Amino acid sequence: MDDLLRAAADRAIRYQRDIGERRVAPVPEAVARLRELGSPLPERPSSPADVLALLDDLGSPATVASTGPRYFGFVTGGALPATVAANWLAGVWDQNAFSNISSPLAATIEDIALGWLLDVLGLPAGSGAAFVTGATMANFTALAAARHAVLASVGWDVEANGLFGAPPVTVVVGEEAHVTLFKALGLLGFGRERVVRVPVDGQGRMRADAFPALTGPAIVCLQAGNVNTGAFDPAGEIVPLAHAAGAWVHVDGAFGLWAAAAPDRKHLVAGVADADSWATDAHKYLNTPYDSGIAFVRDPEPLRAAMSVSATYLPQGAARDPLAYTPDSSRRARGIEIWAALKSLGRAGVADLVERCCRYATRFAEGLRAAGYDVLNEVALNQVLVAFGDDETTCRVIAAIQDDGTCWCGGTTWQGRAAMRISVSSWRTTTADVDRSLAAMIRIAKDTK
Ligand SMILES: *Cc1c(COP(=O)(O)O)cnc(C)c1O
Repeated sequence: MDDLLRAAADRAIRYQRDIGERRVAPVPEAVARLRELGSPLPERPSSPADVLALLDDLGSPATVASTGPRYFGFVTGGALPATVAANWLAGVWDQNAFSNISSPLAATIEDIALGWLLDVLGLPAGSGAAFVTGATMANFTALAAARHAVLASVGWDVEANGLFGAPPVTVVVGEEAHVTLFKALGLLGFGRERVVRVPVDGQGRMRADAFPALTGPAIVCLQAGNVNTGAFDPAGEIVPLAHAAGAWVHVDGAFGLWAAAAPDRKHLVAGVADADSWATDAHKYLNTPYDSGIAFVRDPEPLRAAMSVSATYLPQGAARDPLAYTPDSSRRARGIEIWAALKSLGRAGVADLVERCCRYATRFAEGLRAAGYDVLNEVALNQVLVAFGDDETTCRVIAAIQDDGTCWCGGTTWQGRAAMRISVSSWRTTTADVDRSLAAMIRIAKDTK
């Protein structure tokens, strides 16, 4: 075991040392060779050392260098050094995080991480939380608590009786809500389409002047950070309207919620902390390894009501047992990397990480604009949308940038126009990386006719 773990460390160290200089997207030959990992299911054992060597030799050249400094696809955080190291140790510990009995360490560190998260994100102390795989499950989990609360308020026990025959619940979303929010609504029996869609402005922000009048049980889903523009729904205007109508307000803040941690961006989340529940990711802006999302619920009780189970063999202690708040039971102790990220960065480090990514996004936008290209969004956070001409040209430029390998950006369609998305989300990115990527983008765009 000692030699094996040393070999794994050596290989991992070599991989991460080269990550800044290698092509961001893997070469097609490396991807094609991944088939060599397969064969009919082995009949006989292999030595762990051989398993590791094969995995590294074929796997490492075929990764997407998303932990490197020039990956700007989707909203993809890297992994902070302390979180990678903590993740290695946690892998060896292999704790089952469902309860205090199965792992006092996992339960305690999660409790500490929760307190720090509420503090750094400016959310109400004492809120409940579930540590889940990502913002998709965080939306699902928080909305399950919302479903419990709004139906309990009209005397319906949704956990016992489901939604058949239940009083109808009005669900309000912005026209630009993230696709995973609709998935969460579908899983909860609300229906992906059975929603009231509020029109948005040119940045994708819900229009407060178009907010509907609400009666009866209702859930309003706001967004903090549009996945294309980075724009925020005007929580300061909408939360009071929704609360006046007795509605539950949920905020999908997968990455945008982190604006609260940076003094110069905090204004973007004005009013967000007045909501009833929030979903965010640690694996995006906080730069923990996958998978790591968090659902926060102001009043822990509806979350507990939606998620807790009882069985004679399960603990029923006074301490916070994680499984009373999560859709999962057995799971990895993902609070460990969150704790490591916050411990290693501190409040100032988180603020700097958030702010730096925003500054680099602005640098991208200014460079592209100066070169004559259309930046389609107001760059308030870490997202940039750029068009290189007509839709066909933009798509060709995106493909050529991906193929070039200096950096990686994905495409999207923003309000009818093809655009390239630049999402600056990694602790590793520097000014030099931005300038090198900008130079490649502009060179490629000029060469693409
Ligand atoms: C990324 C994202 C999600 C989904 O998060 P996962 O971690 O991929 O599950 C949801 N909402 C928004 C706004 C996002 O940016």
